[in-house]
Amino acid sequence: MPSTYDKDIQSYNFEELTSLIESLGEKKFRAKQIYEWIHVKLVSSFDEMTNLSASFREKLKEDYILSLPEIVRFQESKEDGTRKYLFKLRDGNMVETVFMRYHHGNSVCISSQVGCAMGCKFCASTLDGLERSLTPSEMLGQIYQVIKHTGERVSNVVVMGMGEPLTNYDNLVRFIELFTDEHGQNISQRNLTVSTCGIVPNIIKLADLKLQITLAISLHATTNDKRKEIMPVANTYSLDKLMDACKYYFDTTGRRITFEYALIGGVNDTAEDAAALARLAGPLSAHINLIPVNPVVERGFTAPDISATMAFKNKLEKKRINVTIRREMGRDIDGACGQLRRRHIGG
Ligand code: SF4
Repeated sequence: MPSTYDKDIQSYNFEELTSLIESLGEKKFRAKQIYEWIHVKLVSSFDEMTNLSASFREKLKEDYILSLPEIVRFQESKEDGTRKYLFKLRDGNMVETVFMRYHHGNSVCISSQVGCAMGCKFCASTLDGLERSLTPSEMLGQIYQVIKHTGERVSNVVVMGMGEPLTNYDNLVRFIELFTDEHGQNISQRNLTVSTCGIVPNIIKLADLKLQITLAISLHATTNDKRKEIMPVANTYSLDKLMDACKYYFDTTGRRITFEYALIGGVNDTAEDAAALARLAGPLSAHINLIPVNPVVERGFTAPDISATMAFKNKLEKKRINVTIRREMGRDIDGACGQLRRRHIGG
């Protein structure tokens, strides 16, 4: 079966790689070796595959590409060890990736696109629009390069960096398949979180795959009108439709959804907002993750102070909603997602 990923051998699944290797006249076990070089030993060139013959390596080199994104810049927090990476892709485009240390293990937040078309008002990643979507290998490459650079294991991955992953649906699903494959990193689906601003048809499509990943919805407002003000996607998919899709996802997969709610001072942090948020989350047993918004100077948004944030949290807890406040990581290094790249390219 030919792969739709053409020369990009890192995006081939195990089955496709096996049929490719057999079609090149090599034994089946070579596929296992090559898959392991790519997805376990994390090599960035065919030359490193030392148990293959030189002639076979040359043949692969002529027809296929294999590389990892190049580290252009990285910053490490002195407070908590968080690292922010700016990676250069093969075509020169840049993406950001964040490595975070938690007591339950290391987590990597990856980008799924270069830029973003969705236009959320509180987000720096969308200020220059969408450049292009990432391939499965470019999503994996961010994690692989971080593992190599830190020399540490990664136990959790969140697809929550630059881009809307559900508008890059096929590549996202292939990425999940590769990252959780027993022949590769063999990470549990439960340790993967995908965050979407609410692309309703693809939430339903994803539900039907019955994966065990965590779906996080960037909710950020509790009425359709308010949501439209800060998230243009709400003009296409109403809050009602989004809630129906969330219910379908929960019922179909049995996985509790997370609502991401960026608290923006004076915009969505009132007592009525807390009550409405509890009404949305309650029937779904959804978990709420409150995010004190990162300041985006271009938009003039600021986070409410800590006492207002705690008061908002308490109101939800009184309604028996499961809620956490996202810990700010790497406060002493470059700010919000998308800003490292903008600063580098002079945005
Ligand atoms: S929050 Fe996510 S979906 Fe919205 S503009 Fe930013 S990257 Fe895109």
